[in-house]
Amino acid sequence: MRPWGEAPIRRLKPLARAGAALLALCGAAAPGCALLLPAALAVPALAGLVFALACGALLAGRVAWPHLRRAALLREAVNNTAVRYAVFAPDRTLLDRSPSCDMPGFDVPGLGPRPLPPGLKLDHLAAAAAGPGQDRCRSVTEVIAAHEDDSMAEYDWALPDGRILQVSKRRLSGGEVARFALDVTAYRTREMRARAIHESVPAAIWHLDPEGRTLAANRRLLDLFGGTLPDNLAAAGLQQLGRPGGGPFGLQPGQEVEGILPATRAMAERRVIVVASPWLPGEEGQLQAVLMLLDVTRLHAAQAQAAHFAWHDPLTGLPNRFRFQQALTDLEAGPEGGALVLVELAGLGMVNDALGLAAGDALLKEAARRLREQVRPLDQVFRIGGSEFAVVAAGLRSQGGGAAMAARIRQGLAAPVDLGRGGSPIRACIGHAMLPEDAADADTLHRAAGLALALAKREGEGTIRAYEAALGEQVTRRLVLRERLSAAVATGGLQLAWQAQVDARTGAMRGAEALLRWPDGPFGPVAPGDFLPEAEAAGLMPAIDAWVLEEALRQKAAWMAAGTGPEVVGVNISPITLRDPAFPRRVSAALARYCVPAESLEVEIPEVVAARDLDAIAPVLYELIAEGVRLSLDDFGGGSSALAHLLRLPVDQVKLDRSIVAGLPGGARERAILRAVSTLARGMEIPLLAEGVETEEQRQALLEEGCLVMQGWLFGRAVPAGRLAAR
Ligand code: C2E
Ligand code: CA
Ligand code: CA
Repeated sequence: MRPWGEAPIRRLKPLARAGAALLALCGAAAPGCALLLPAALAVPALAGLVFALACGALLAGRVAWPHLRRAALLREAVNNTAVRYAVFAPDRTLLDRSPSCDMPGFDVPGLGPRPLPPGLKLDHLAAAAAGPGQDRCRSVTEVIAAHEDDSMAEYDWALPDGRILQVSKRRLSGGEVARFALDVTAYRTREMRARAIHESVPAAIWHLDPEGRTLAANRRLLDLFGGTLPDNLAAAGLQQLGRPGGGPFGLQPGQEVEGILPATRAMAERRVIVVASPWLPGEEGQLQAVLMLLDVTRLHAAQAQAAHFAWHDPLTGLPNRFRFQQALTDLEAGPEGGALVLVELAGLGMVNDALGLAAGDALLKEAARRLREQVRPLDQVFRIGGSEFAVVAAGLRSQGGGAAMAARIRQGLAAPVDLGRGGSPIRACIGHAMLPEDAADADTLHRAAGLALALAKREGEGTIRAYEAALGEQVTRRLVLRERLSAAVATGGLQLAWQAQVDARTGAMRGAEALLRWPDGPFGPVAPGDFLPEAEAAGLMPAIDAWVLEEALRQKAAWMAAGTGPEVVGVNISPITLRDPAFPRRVSAALARYCVPAESLEVEIPEVVAARDLDAIAPVLYELIAEGVRLSLDDFGGGSSALAHLLRLPVDQVKLDRSIVAGLPGGARERAILRAVSTLARGMEIPLLAEGVETEEQRQALLEEGCLVMQGWLFGRAVPAGRLAAR
């Protein structure tokens, strides 16, 4: 038996009729069309084949997984041929098209493989494909009419450039219209067209008699069998494809089955999708059936691998955190509860840095192996992060059980591992929690064990911690605080209090510092020292800084209008904003908006920030200075030792830290620092301000060292703006 591609056209006639019937069985055929009867009928057949598999699944996004997979297969199959497709919504909006993007009327000229612009319609495509001149409108109207006319399932479309497309279209169940086309310009005779088309079929086609003997086939079938056409189904290893009694060879017409072609000397095992026609009368009245085979071996392997990697860590082979989530959910659903043990390896980063990534990988693999060794056969071990592992031990109920497992794991890991520089132990921190003792559900269990692990890490390498309820309360409190704070920032729940800065000799007010207040926190008023760290962790500082700046300038403008208040207003700005290159621009915009002179604004920069982030904040500071804004170095002498270095910053004021003032007048160390700072400041002609001044003795000691401006309870607490102005 010769393969289809080499058979004379006459011989193919019955096959053609079979193809048409196959088409019909798929519910996509126009009556009477034939696979290899050329012209109007061949492409429909082809389209029908495509339809047989696709059934509208090309409308990806609306279809479930098996369909989607089929759609992917089809795309791949069709894209390897000269067939082009496009799918339109009922209103003719283009939904999807071949990625080849080279056929007029099926794509936008020049768009290439880029995503479709929204709202693109067949009307636009037809207009783009229509040539210039009078016939243009008629041509577009005709294309649209043919598209809308469901009785026109197949037709030739002559493009203005002389090309002829053989178009086949079908309305899908949702009212969408799918169009397939093949450029048949080069095929002058019906026979040539027919051949072109059957070579374009994206599947192997096999014609069989009722005994399963080969009648004919196409080139793709030959390829599928390594160049030798099998005499019959049995020789191909495809004896019984479905349940006996169904249709041909046990297959319901149109039903897809996946089969395996066993390995032969020439070919490895292949996986195919098979679709069959019903029994059809051949030319001489004998029955035959047509099988369509799609080789999905490669796709299958790729999918299997993708599936494995979707659930497993490629390095250690352990199931990954998606599986871990699943296991936690199962634990929650299960009747017996259990333990969750989280293990974080210490020093992985150091190994990577010092010995290379290969050594780090080896460490992880060895740790994974040892973990598996230390747990019971039914316990599950996961790699859930770079250096983090988890053990889910269903049925392990006593707190002692979790602790014992944690201890076993620590000991198991501790044996030396040789990573090329002699052996060293694998160290880890471990946190564990129990369901239902510590947590009622999977999420809470994970959080509980995570808290325990965080605590263990804080206490150092090799620590094991069990979850305790007190840990949870602390965290809950913090979370509530964050949530409420975020709402307060958004709804104006924050306020500014003002603390005067005075000339300590006369008591006259020189300036005032704006200090943030949150009067209605979740547990009453909250001090900035308590809520600012939470605000920082929650990413709220930029918004808070912006609000403080705005509110301080608004207040200064109000004081100016009333002819009262401090000359200079000081604001505290957080490091993240001080690093933002757009900050100076926002400051000058706000100054302009409130008509406040730049010299009336003083930005306080904590010493630690200046010392740590000098490079990052210097450009912003210089821009602020250029603007005319005053800079004040806050908390000076409180931490950094490089005081002289810091004083090279072009600041307008240095604020002596409260902790130094608190040690005055008695503390020798504080006196020494005060003397050093005041000498430095005087030498550089930078005014010194002492903050936190509470007593008359402190005031005297400071005055003796030449510090004239002071801030502190001795002169007044931070108060609402109205009470400050009244002083
Ligand atoms: P800071 O900038 O060093 O502010 C001075 C702190 O010392 C204020 O505490 C103030 O109320 C307090 N204080 C003033 N005089 C005395 C005194 O005589 N004795 C004692 N013991 N304390 C005194 P507060 O208002 O609790 O602010 C604490 C810190 O919170 C501030 O330290 C500052 O770092 C930060 N902060 C306050 N408001 C803001 C703000 O608007 N934005 C930013 N980013 N941080 C702010
Ligand atoms: Ca301050
Ligand atoms: Ca301060």
